[in-house]
Amino acid sequence: MIDPEPTASHFINGEYVEDKSGKLVDVIYPATGNVIAQVNAATPEILEAALNAARGAQSRWAALTGTERGRILRRAADIMRERNRELSELETYDTGKPLQETLVADASSAADALEYFGGIAGSLTGEHLQFGEDFIYTIREPLGVCVGIGAWNYPTQIAAWKGAPALACGNSMIFKPSETTPLCALKVAEILCEAGLPAGVYNVVQGLGDIGAALVTDPRVAKVSLTGSLPTGRKVYSAAAEGMRHVTMELGGKSPLIIFDDADLDDAVSGAILANFYSSGQICSNGTRVFVQSGIKDAFIARLKSRVGSAVLGDPMDEKTNFGPMVSEKQLKIVEGFIAKGLAQGAKLICGGERLDKPGFWLTPAIFSDVRDEMTIANEEIFGPVMSVLEFEHEEEVLKRANATEYGLAAGVFTQNLQRAHRVVKALQAGTCYINTYNDAPVEAPFGGVKMSGVGRENSKAAINHYSQLKSVYVRMSELEAPY
Ligand code: NAD
Repeated sequence: MIDPEPTASHFINGEYVEDKSGKLVDVIYPATGNVIAQVNAATPEILEAALNAARGAQSRWAALTGTERGRILRRAADIMRERNRELSELETYDTGKPLQETLVADASSAADALEYFGGIAGSLTGEHLQFGEDFIYTIREPLGVCVGIGAWNYPTQIAAWKGAPALACGNSMIFKPSETTPLCALKVAEILCEAGLPAGVYNVVQGLGDIGAALVTDPRVAKVSLTGSLPTGRKVYSAAAEGMRHVTMELGGKSPLIIFDDADLDDAVSGAILANFYSSGQICSNGTRVFVQSGIKDAFIARLKSRVGSAVLGDPMDEKTNFGPMVSEKQLKIVEGFIAKGLAQGAKLICGGERLDKPGFWLTPAIFSDVRDEMTIANEEIFGPVMSVLEFEHEEEVLKRANATEYGLAAGVFTQNLQRAHRVVKALQAGTCYINTYNDAPVEAPFGGVKMSGVGRENSKAAINHYSQLKSVYVRMSELEAPY
């Protein structure tokens, strides 16, 4: 096992940097509750150093060809894959997610982002428009210094999903990880540097929300990309608006998963498990409102309960474990509060929802049935292993109920009726829809929300437009006429 203690708290201008006068932040291993490392939050001096480094490096980085930038990102992807086990262990220490998951879902997804955006960096272009002899061309330009702010559930992936497109376009970045999981982003910075990234292009600073807030309002910053909750999103979006900064907002969700009675039952149960219990339910796009058509509801619940009952809760570093602890005592208490509300409002707890009597933040996967639309557990984002099963009769009815939420991150449908599947996803208000699957998020596909789930898209070519802008150049070749 690796030693989770970082070399230093921050990574600025190509090297690890420490300032011990910053507020101390404990890094707690969720599986035991033990403090496994400590970092210091950024001081004003650290923030200044990061901002100056990012500002100073950006124009030189942008002056490289896209191919040169891309080569460095792709090299970083290779290093990340070579160091997959070490990075996966660190992700497990940071988040508590089982190694069985982190070995395939975290550093590998981060590497995919670096490889993908490294691959397209050399072909990022503007356009040419001809008007007779005259023409217009557009130049695709970077935005400048970008700030990335991360949530705690996918610390390696979020650091790379934001960094890769930003750097491919010629921006520099300051990334602030969540205070709950500060370790992984430092490794992303270290690996980028090892791959040849010029000093100052990608920097990591630690801290709580106040450090994020200080970055968002700094006049040197051109763009802010946040992954976090809706309340934080509201604050960051309005703070960024003051300076007309570009924003990407990857926020929360309360996504519907609709299971029609013609669905393959085993697939539907697998989908519901993937949509609710992977990463102990701590995934923004989770389909936590599981609408099941009345004809199969009992059979669905019976099969689901038996499958979930076989989840292996144990040492996350043991590759046989497939269900880990929650990230923190705070998050566990929030989720327990929702479970209590579900019970008080009359939902039926089919199984789970119990705290394990051992150190760490362990909660067994919970399934509620008899959930009604107006209940708190059917309306608010829980961000934990709590599934709500709601019954429905008809397609029109379920679509109305599925869309009756302020969120719109994802949605899923299980059916074998092709026409219905496409009709339903067309009507669902969500940034990502799944047909007979759930929670895939390859870098090639745009990812992001509608309504209160966010603004902009990560991944895919769509992300390029969120990290660059077009300058139009008008060129007159014909004689120029003026009215006087
Ligand atoms: P959070 O909103 O509490 O914190 C997110 C980040 O914002 C942290 O780094 C935090 O320090 C920072 N922050 C807090 N206040 C700030 C401020 N005023 N200004 C600037 N930065 C500030 O979220 P969390 O608890 O870390 O993560 C869980 C949330 O993230 C859930 O709502 C989940 O749905 C969402 N999430 C969304 C996606 C997505 O892609 N849409 C992915 C993962 C998580």
